[in-house]
Parts: sequence; structure tokens; C-alpha cells
Amino acid sequence: MDKQITVTSPLLPNLDEFQFMLKEIWDSKWITNNGSFHQRLEAALCEYLKVPYISVFTNGTLPLITALQALRITGEVITTPYSFVATTHALWWNGIKPVFVDIDPATGGIDPNKIEAAITPKTTAIMPVHVYGKPCKTKEIQEIADKYGLRVIYDAAHAFGVEVNGKSILEEGDMSTLSFHATKVYNTLEGGALVVHDEKMKRRIDYLKNFGFAGETEVVAPGINSKMDEVRAAYGLLNLRQVDAAIEARHQVAILYREALSSIEGITFWDDMPGVRHNYSYFPIFVNAEKYGMTRDEQYFKMREQGVYGRRYFYPLISEFSTYRGLPSARKENLPEAHKMADSVICLPMHHELSKDEINRVINCIINK
Ligand SMILES: *Cc1c(COP(=O)(O)O)cnc(C)c1O
Repeated sequence: MDKQITVTSPLLPNLDEFQFMLKEIWDSKWITNNGSFHQRLEAALCEYLKVPYISVFTNGTLPLITALQALRITGEVITTPYSFVATTHALWWNGIKPVFVDIDPATGGIDPNKIEAAITPKTTAIMPVHVYGKPCKTKEIQEIADKYGLRVIYDAAHAFGVEVNGKSILEEGDMSTLSFHATKVYNTLEGGALVVHDEKMKRRIDYLKNFGFAGETEVVAPGINSKMDEVRAAYGLLNLRQVDAAIEARHQVAILYREALSSIEGITFWDDMPGVRHNYSYFPIFVNAEKYGMTRDEQYFKMREQGVYGRRYFYPLISEFSTYRGLPSARKENLPEAHKMADSVICLPMHHELSKDEINRVINCIINK
């Protein structure tokens, strides 16, 4: 059987260069707690992402939890069921009730037209997701937030490097979080970050990720430990140098997929959005079983038999997991578009190392039913 084609493959730094940096860490004997590589990575990320303040974390879930703490969010938060489960878990870990709102089928993100109906006196914030790195309707979301005095925290785990008209998508809302997990476009093995808009908030986040310590003897808040260590920060600095090339390689894969799949009855996908710098983090296709002649799951398992491992991101919806299923907003009738998307999606293999042969194998799986 042919070699397996997986949905992603991690971007890895050059091993010799990494060893050179490790030597520097070993010599300094400073392995964590805001060391030199941690500081260099934060500065380099600010420059690359075109944002003024960033705080790096040990993974992409703790910045979500910390953002909610820092903004003192309580009560109910409006969010999307069409995401990775960590989005809603972050609310749960803060004792906040998630309120699911349906998605806009044009973007996969929360539908701004359905947010207002979900607002109650207990609502304090909106937590949307730029799912697949595709920008949400940020302007409409902000207008609602301003009207009702709500905070907006974006889970931008998929949106590393995404820009709209030259401006970083991470500038939207009150804060945005990133994940640098191995499966993401840019990784630090495990890692993540919180993007904030002012120096005071950056300082508060830095306290919160270090137990709330502000200096040697003062603890200003019940913080957590979510600092990034020096080894991962060094790895992250090296990966940052090659992430543009990786995004461009992904772009070329997207071009080939689009060319080959545009004429297949029952298969749809998204084009690039005008004015947007995409990161090609995922390539979702949507299967219309009636027109295609095969259900999404039939196609998904047939691909696996041929060694092509796509993924059904995001099936099942977060609202279907046992923790959240009982919530009134989790009812299927409340989330028809999210269910439709979750039941039709397959994310095709998408990474910087896919060869022409591998891309053709993926395409042939879809063409030859
Ligand atoms: C990956 C991901 C996270 C969690 O990030 P980790 O780094 O794995 O903790 C959160 N939200 C979304 C949408 C993700 O895809």
C-alpha cells in the first residue's frame, strides 16, 4: 500500500540550527521564566504579526482561560459550536455558561445576525472563532458588542498571520488567542499566545501566566503557570524564519486542489476572500451527498482505505459532547447551519511538504468514486 497521507505534517526547524540554540541555553543555564529566547520570540512575533503586544504561553488553551480571567468575564458568554472543543472548555474552566449561536455558512464563523437574540442580562462577552483561519464578520460582531457593552475575545488559534487589507486580524476585539500546537501552521511543539492592545494589559497577562507574581514578594492575582520555556521559544524563533515559505507552499496546494475540484458535482469549497492574506491552515471541502452520490462519511472512510487521512473538523459539534449537550442553546434546532457544515465537511490533507504525487492521490480519491 502507498504511504499514508496525513492531514498535516509539523513544520520543523533545521536540527543543526536548533542544536546551536540549545547550546546557548545550556551555557546560560536559564531554561524558563522570561529568559532571553522568550523575550526574543515575543519581539519577533510582534514584528511578524504586526501587533504591538503579545504574551507567549505554554499552549493555546491557557491563553483562552487567562483572557477570560484578565477581563473578569462571568455569567454567560456567546460562542460558536463549530470549533475545537478547547474554545468552550475555556469557558467551563472559568465557571461561565456557554451560549451557542449558529454559524454563518459563508465563513463558518458565528452568525452576527443571530447573536442579539441570545443576549440576556447575564451576557458579558462574545467568543467567536476564525475557524480555518477565515476571518469572522468582525465589524458586525463589534457593533453588537459596543451596543450591549460586551467584551469580544477571539479564538484565533487558526488565524496565525492572517491579515485583512494589510491589518492583522489579531487586532480585532479586546483580545485574540493563538495556538502554536504541532498541528498548526506555525508551531513551537506545544505553545500559544495572547495578543492584547495595551502595555498595562500585557503586564497583567504576564503576571497571570506566572502565578500572579509582580516582583519577588508580591502576588497581585490568583494566576496560573502557563509560561513558555526557553527551549520552545528558541524552536519558535527558528520556525518563524520559515513560516512564510510554509504558507506559500500551502497556497500552492490550495491552488491545485481548487483547479482539480472545481468541476466536481456535489463538492464545494471556499475561494480566497478579497483583501485577505490567508494562511491556508486547512482545506475544507463540503460534500453534498445527493449531488455527489456518496455521503460524507462514505467518502471519508473510502479515502482512509486508500491511505488518505483527511479529518472531519469540526464533527461532532462542541454542543454534541456530553458536557454541553444539556444546555438549552445546544439543541439541534438552534444550530441548523453548524450541523449542516459538521455533517458535510472533510478537511483534505494540507501542509508544506505535500508532493505533486500526493496531491494527485488526494484529488483522485475524490474524482474516482
Ligand atoms: C488548537 C486549538 C486550540 C487549542 O490549542 P492548544 O495549543 O492545542 O491548547 C483552541 N482553539 C482552537 C480553535 C484550536 O484549533
